[in-house]
Amino acid sequence: MSGVICVKCGLWMKVETNGVTVEQMSGARPISLTSADLLKCPKCGAEAVLTAEKPLAESYQEKEYAFWRKKAIKIIKVTN
Ligand SMILES: [Zn+2]
Repeated sequence: MSGVICVKCGLWMKVETNGVTVEQMSGARPISLTSADLLKCPKCGAEAVLTAEKPLAESYQEKEYAFWRKKAIKIIKVTN
């Protein structure tokens, strides 16, 4: 089992929202969309995102990218 632990509190983070979408950016340029869960520490409220291993779509896959981006309930942008 994989999971995420709040280091400060020593507790497993709990899933707050299933199926959020992480959009990987390179500066202003979108790279990929990946399904993820938004996690929250039950004690201190710290939030973290745990992504799936494989992306839903890469930006060069224009149709798939547009489809998944439109379907996203919440997009969390992450920049390198
Ligand atoms: Zn905590």
